[in-house]
Amino acid sequence: MAELVIRDLNKTYMKQKERIHAVKSLNLTARDGEFIAFLGPSGCGKSTTLRMIAGLEDITSGEIEIGGTVVNRLHPSKRNVGLAFENYALYPPLTVYDNIAFNLRAKKTPEEEIKREVGKIAELLHITSLLDMKPAALSGGQKQRVNIARAIVRKPGILLLDEPLSHLDGKMRQSMRTELKRLHTEIKSTSIIVTHDQSEAMALADRIAIINEGVLQQFGTPLEVYNHPVNEFVAGFIGEPPMNLFTVHAFTAKTGKKMFRIEDSLLEFEVPAAYREKVRDSQPYRFGIRPADIHIVGGSDPHTISTKVTIFESLGEECRVHIRVGETLLSLVTGEDVHYRTGDPIHLLFREDRIHLFDPSNGNRIQ
Ligand code: ADP
Repeated sequence: MAELVIRDLNKTYMKQKERIHAVKSLNLTARDGEFIAFLGPSGCGKSTTLRMIAGLEDITSGEIEIGGTVVNRLHPSKRNVGLAFENYALYPPLTVYDNIAFNLRAKKTPEEEIKREVGKIAELLHITSLLDMKPAALSGGQKQRVNIARAIVRKPGILLLDEPLSHLDGKMRQSMRTELKRLHTEIKSTSIIVTHDQSEAMALADRIAIINEGVLQQFGTPLEVYNHPVNEFVAGFIGEPPMNLFTVHAFTAKTGKKMFRIEDSLLEFEVPAAYREKVRDSQPYRFGIRPADIHIVGGSDPHTISTKVTIFESLGEECRVHIRVGETLLSLVTGEDVHYRTGDPIHLLFREDRIHLFDPSNGNRIQ
């Protein structure tokens, strides 16, 4: 186990005479034994950061500290890290057993101990029956398990996993995800997983670092980033189905009530109490509400939106209702016991304590 501290980390690449700033002033601490996810869209700098921690990539500026030692200039083999990278190939001529044993042999570990350790890890990862096989005979998913086994057999202070479940199909991915979580509680290494899949990050991590265009947007527990996204990017990236996000304009009605009008529509509803003092007339705001936080109610009042159903989908356990509002398709999730047809009237209520409001000029949350 080891603590990982990243200070003001930057990475720039030159690509066809163009300078790419892949990682921008990253500051982050992973506590001893913590499971951290680096989450963000493809190209946001997740893997580059992981490779810099591993020592496979030079640092442009900044500092990486593992277990109290600055490792900027340390060779990867001296950093106390275990790597399971998507394209980190297994040695083709060696059996699975010998692949896993490789690093232990390099450290001159006695064969008896190697046998015990490989056996234990193989059992943990359910690959005991593969130990005599060569990598060429394995499926993509099996190779990924062997990769993980090879990384953790060294009992690294920091375990680095780059999209370790990417080759697995739906069901297998789910069960391997559960196994990874169990594995982490058993081996207790500080672990960092790189993923672009928000549900994977939410399910696995103690804390999630959400990155966009090389910049850390938010670093928090799954519940923090879900319930209090600091900006519109995080709000839209976390949650499935995604949060509804649309533009509203504030105004004061003849009745004196503060109202929001949804852009490009005639739909209006009263500004939730928490925001009445904060919004200014004629100003636009980005309004966010999760599909599960929109309730269908019996009749209309100033708080509700009265509209018509555009699309209704029944998915078994739950149903989804989609409503065209101006340029946006507003989605909500309901229980299995409702049924609508296109054009049916519907009254919607946004749960007041679940509303998110963002400043359209910079995307930041309005508290
Ligand atoms: P992610 O893992 O989030 O998908 P990466 O860390 O791989 O993203 O890449 C971040 C950015 O750096 C991208 O714009 C990518 O094209 C660029 N990049 C990564 N590796 C190199 C490289 N070796 N040379 C030039 N540009 C690179």
